[in-house]
Amino acid sequence: MVEQTLVFVKPDGVERGLVGEIFARFEKVGLKIVGMKMMHADKAHVQKHYAAHLEKDFYPPVENFITSGPVVAAVLEGVGAVSLVRKIVGGTEPHSAAPGTIRGDYAHMNYAYADGPAKAKGLRNVIHASGNEEEAKAEIELWFSKDELFDYKLLHEKHTRG
Ligand code: ATP
Ligand code: MG
Repeated sequence: MVEQTLVFVKPDGVERGLVGEIFARFEKVGLKIVGMKMMHADKAHVQKHYAAHLEKDFYPPVENFITSGPVVAAVLEGVGAVSLVRKIVGGTEPHSAAPGTIRGDYAHMNYAYADGPAKAKGLRNVIHASGNEEEAKAEIELWFSKDELFDYKLLHEKHTRG
């Protein structure tokens, strides 16, 4: 099934100049960028985005981290896009994320350090990606208005979709 999913390069990825390299990976597998923007998320926006985590111990540092600088958000479309993008992004903890994934290749932080010496800073793991289809629908609505999403055809859609 053709799906849409939401990603955003977190402030660590933007500040490290990784935006182009990250989106190159999505484009290379044939995913279509249907919306994209830079924004500096405020606390209220991050609270809505991570509503499921608000009560967790790690939430305050996550909020500090995500509001510490601009992010680059995008909606990606493709066959099975939600799980495909999670596979490309890799596991939550960069230390254990598989090599070849974005988090495994561009970061090395572990939970112990993020919850200990770096507690105020949050787990810097470069990128967010929706966890499932339901999350993707809600997150796309939260981050993008209808007129910020575009309907067009990629040349290679001919070869990747029927
Ligand atoms: P994201 O939603 O950012 O793509 P994820 O879906 O891989 O990440 P979640 O469980 O949704 O993981 O956690 C949201 C964010 O909260 C993580 O990206 C990370 O920054 C932070 N986080 C999650 N678990 C922990 C933890 N045990 N210690 C510190 N930070 C954590
Ligand atoms: Mg998540």
